[in-house]
Amino acid sequence: MELFRKVDGLAEDIQKLQPAVDLWRKFIYCTSLSGSILGSVDHMQPQDFDKIVSPVSVAHFSQYKLVRLLLKRLENLGFHTCTPDMLQSLNQDMLWEKKILMGHECISLHPTDQGVMVGASFQKEGKMEERKFHCSILVASDGARSTVRNLVGINMKGEHDLQKLVSIHFMSKDLGQYLLQQRPGMLFFIFNPEAIGVLVAHDLNQGEFVLQVPYYPPQQKFEDFSSKVCKQIIFKLVGWEPVDVEVVDIKPWAMHAEVAEKFVSCNNRVILVGDAAHRFPPAGGFGMNTGIQDAHNLAWKISSLLNNIASPSIIQTYEVERRPIAISNTNLSVQNFKAAMSVPTALGLDPTMANSVHQVINSSIGSILPSSMQKAVLEGIFSIGRSQLSEFFLNEDNPIGSMRLARLRSIFHEGKSLQLQFPAEDLGFCYLEGALVADGGNRTLETEAASGHRSGPRDYIPSAKPGSRLPHMQVRALNASFSKDIFSTLDLIPGDKLEFLLIIAPVEKSYDLARSTLKVAEEFKVSLKVCIIWPEGSSDKQETGSGTKLDPWTNHIDVEEIKRSSSKSWWELCHMTSKGFILVRPDEHIAWRSDSDTLDNIVPEVERVLSLILGVEKSCV
Ligand SMILES: Cc1cc2nc3c(=O)[nH]c(=O)nc-3n(C[C@H](O)[C@H](O)[C@H](O)COP(=O)(O)OP(=O)(O)OC[C@H]3O[C@@H](n4cnc5c(N)ncnc54)[C@H](O)[C@@H]3O)c2cc1C
Repeated sequence: MELFRKVDGLAEDIQKLQPAVDLWRKFIYCTSLSGSILGSVDHMQPQDFDKIVSPVSVAHFSQYKLVRLLLKRLENLGFHTCTPDMLQSLNQDMLWEKKILMGHECISLHPTDQGVMVGASFQKEGKMEERKFHCSILVASDGARSTVRNLVGINMKGEHDLQKLVSIHFMSKDLGQYLLQQRPGMLFFIFNPEAIGVLVAHDLNQGEFVLQVPYYPPQQKFEDFSSKVCKQIIFKLVGWEPVDVEVVDIKPWAMHAEVAEKFVSCNNRVILVGDAAHRFPPAGGFGMNTGIQDAHNLAWKISSLLNNIASPSIIQTYEVERRPIAISNTNLSVQNFKAAMSVPTALGLDPTMANSVHQVINSSIGSILPSSMQKAVLEGIFSIGRSQLSEFFLNEDNPIGSMRLARLRSIFHEGKSLQLQFPAEDLGFCYLEGALVADGGNRTLETEAASGHRSGPRDYIPSAKPGSRLPHMQVRALNASFSKDIFSTLDLIPGDKLEFLLIIAPVEKSYDLARSTLKVAEEFKVSLKVCIIWPEGSSDKQETGSGTKLDPWTNHIDVEEIKRSSSKSWWELCHMTSKGFILVRPDEHIAWRSDSDTLDNIVPEVERVLSLILGVEKSCV
């Protein structure tokens, strides 16, 4: 959502169009949608709405709706969506620039001296045809089964086929209305003797749902999940039969925990992003978020390369920075998946047992049985397992049932079930090396902050360590014309321009540093803005602002910090002193920081830093 704030009002549109937060803030665990509630976890805290750590809150929005909004933004930028039929009437030699070609599938690629020749198949009058395109860079965002990844021979590393599931997309206004009134929530984990499933309520007002049901091939086949069978499963999980259930789509998918061995191939010409580069359990909402961050990390680097500001080696820093984040988010998603499994395990339904039973049936001993019998054995064992969920068994009067219910209560109470928000990872992820100048940081201050009062293990601790996202703080423009009076430090970086930002305090040595940096940036043909952060209360004084201090350069802005409840100044928030300065990249990540009075030879130092970040020597610029 922070990144979408920069895309032409996209975050605002999502906030307007998403369901009200009270309709999705809870995860509910129950025996059916109308049966007993085993537990309910509210994932929103009052501070989530206060905009202290971020200018924007989490959102709940269906991916297909997001894709529509993204296409609209591209159209606003002059892109045209074309179907193969529309293209037939156009000239073969037409410019492909700014065209979104629907119905085209990448089927081949060949590296050339200048880039990549890509073959795309499309349907013409019922027959498949192929069209060739030459591109200087090919960004493969073709999903978990990426053809491009396979064509360039990049392997995935990690755990394969953790679980097979069927995804059932259905509509039911009756069910939506019922849940709106009785138990609104986003995720419903449903366990009963007849069926088990996880229901994602996409929009209760519209009655739009996606149900996830585990299945075990080859004994259970995807083809067995007809629309009729899916409706029966839905009814078992709902506990009554909504008459208006309409199954829209049924799809199988497999859960993996894998990251590509390389993100960049063919001499920096082919680049994997999103699920093409990593695929992990959808526990914690990291899949698409990680993919969007990949694209954001890559965009300014491609732009720098195409604008001759950076060398091709900057593309390598994409892999150096993003691959460790993908690995870390994969591990976290696996941990989250295990946290989600703690609930069925407490209910006596250990999912690892189900997988073991399945493995035994698939093994040489089990496979001696005819396939119909294998299926019957598997379903029989699962049915015995599910029978433990009956109200006859799972109640306070039954010693085992009562013990299991107590274990469930402690899982929810201790926050050990699946969580919705991960601020330490969502906002606090940090690149350790890449297009940045790593430093040891101010360990004492940062360690103190980390060991201070924290409400949970996953709090986000703002940091100005190189590689971190720039911390958010609200600031007020002092003298420059800015579109808003009060805005976030994140807004100091434009979303539509390749520009670095230097943040300083109004200190003589820092002005010296800023002038030198502006001069060197000009030599490197890099756009740089300087932001001077003044302490709170500066606007009340007669003379404020940097005035002529940065002459002859004009690209600077004076702002005043607005302290929030933490009452920390900007530099305290960054664990630095006001002698410090921070250089921020166009993707809002910190490239370099230091104390201005520790630098003697400023110009060569800034030259060294920009050379490192952009992979160019000053003489080559
Ligand atoms: C049940 C479930 C719940 C999830 N929930 C969340 C969540 O809450 N939050 C979150 O962040 N993530 C979530 N995810 C993960 C998220 O859906 C994926 O990470 C995300 O869709 C990946 O986006 P992508 O663009 O990389 O790939 P995809 O969305 O798979 O898009 C790939 C696109 O490439 C096209 N394509 C494929 N092959 C070719 C080819 N050869 N040539 C041209 N085009 C091609 C496809 O048609 C498709 O349009 C969830 C996933 C699942 C399965």
